[in-house]
Amino acid sequence: MDSATDSPRRPALSPLLREAFATLGPAFYTDVAPWTLPDPYWVVRSRALARELGLDDAWLESDEALQALSGNALLTGSTPRAGVYSGHQFGLWAGQLGDGRALSLGELDAPGGPQELQIKGAGRTPYSRRGDGRAVLRSSIREFLCSEAMHGLGIPTTRALCVTGADVPIRREEMETAAVLTRTAPSFLRFGHFEHFSHHGQHAELRRLADHVIDRFYPACRDTDRFSGNPYAALLEAVSERTAALLAQWQAVGFCHGVMNTDNMSILGLTLDYGPFQFMDAFSFGHICNHTDVQGRYAFGKQPNVAYWNLFCLGQALLPLIDDSDLALAALESYKTVYPREYEGRMRAKLGLPDAHPDDRVLIESLLKLMAQGGVDFTLFWRRLSQWAATRVPAPTALPGEDPAAAPVRDLFLDRAAADHWMLQYSERTIAIPRGLMANFMLKTNPKYVLRNHLAEIAIRQAKLKDFTEVENLLTVLQNPFDEHPAHEDWAGLPPEWAAAIEISCSS
Ligand code: AMP
Ligand code: MG
Repeated sequence: MDSATDSPRRPALSPLLREAFATLGPAFYTDVAPWTLPDPYWVVRSRALARELGLDDAWLESDEALQALSGNALLTGSTPRAGVYSGHQFGLWAGQLGDGRALSLGELDAPGGPQELQIKGAGRTPYSRRGDGRAVLRSSIREFLCSEAMHGLGIPTTRALCVTGADVPIRREEMETAAVLTRTAPSFLRFGHFEHFSHHGQHAELRRLADHVIDRFYPACRDTDRFSGNPYAALLEAVSERTAALLAQWQAVGFCHGVMNTDNMSILGLTLDYGPFQFMDAFSFGHICNHTDVQGRYAFGKQPNVAYWNLFCLGQALLPLIDDSDLALAALESYKTVYPREYEGRMRAKLGLPDAHPDDRVLIESLLKLMAQGGVDFTLFWRRLSQWAATRVPAPTALPGEDPAAAPVRDLFLDRAAADHWMLQYSERTIAIPRGLMANFMLKTNPKYVLRNHLAEIAIRQAKLKDFTEVENLLTVLQNPFDEHPAHEDWAGLPPEWAAAIEISCSS
């Protein structure tokens, strides 16, 4: 008798949830029952996240999990609710928005602290407006993979636990099928939540919201000497600093969010709401990843300023609490110092420079200008530079053009003479830095793998045929993007020509 197969399986431990938004009150949400999803199937699960959440492995394999995370059954303690928020979209006040297709199931007591569990795509809510309440398989896989990829890169983000799918037809630009994404975060509160209550003059609710965020996530704002002890100005400063740090990480990895509306800005400085995002292939400050963004408001190079614009909206929303516009402006000032400091720090790390030098800014700017002129592949350049750092000829007089190990880097540039000139300057700047040390550091800073559009596209095409192996393989690689994955060397190369024709819009 084979005891492994015949012994009864241990019953899976289902997670216990607690009401989300409990302390905020009914002005913040509406209780909504999820729609059912007929005959759901698993698409992909992040077992790494499940472990971090303290979920039972067996539970995530169970039919109970499949049904609960598709909207077909309720977990113990779950009170599904949709939150209300407003926001500025593409620079204009858009009025009331809210969770039009996301439902918070409740809060989970994870080892690292409470985590909100949301399912996205489980039906209409009072905030759906003209939307159908559903999410499609394509966009759910994109959000799932990118959430976990960002985490693998060490960039603050909401996480993704799983995607389930069903053969339910959903109309987008073409007919697609339905999926439900389960995501987690300590909180999904957005700038738009503050804007909502401020705009409607609901100052008691605004204060309750700000107090909740301070008590729970920014307790240091309570006992600060800064801003004459005003905790709400301190909150604005703290959010500005986190947002600045996040933007520096986006810019350093070539990540374009695509829809930086204030309703997509996390109050915790997390990457939130993955829509038409893209990790840039060819470097360009003007790169627009969102096909719908005709004006290029959210072009790659504009993201840091847009974040400041969004913080300004948050500052305006908080004004009834801060009660002094000079204090609010002073709190926002922190962005202008933290962003450049963080960005330069990140770029120096990419270059393997352990300390700051006054000429570094020029070195970085001249490199990016050169990369933009030649449309150099962003990820490939940094990875090849990291490899070259290990072998480069130490003498600054040795021209990179004469160093065969430099060829993989210089070959990425159209203007080889200009590339040689930059590499010579770089060699001079790094002459005293031990090469092995530098390369080691750079290889842990410059990822080999990012979720390029065409990689997601290949996995999605297969997933539509119910083959989820590429989604699974991509997840494994992207969770460890700095490692070598010899079986997937092709995923680290230049994108194929057809990748340039991929058009990603807001439709999801
Ligand atoms: P997004 O651009 O995805 O951040 O969404 C902006 C707003 O539209 C949010 O309030 C969403 O909840 C809502 N929304 C987007 N797609 C849908 C949909 N298919 N059904 C209902 N609401 C949606
Ligand atoms: Mg959104």
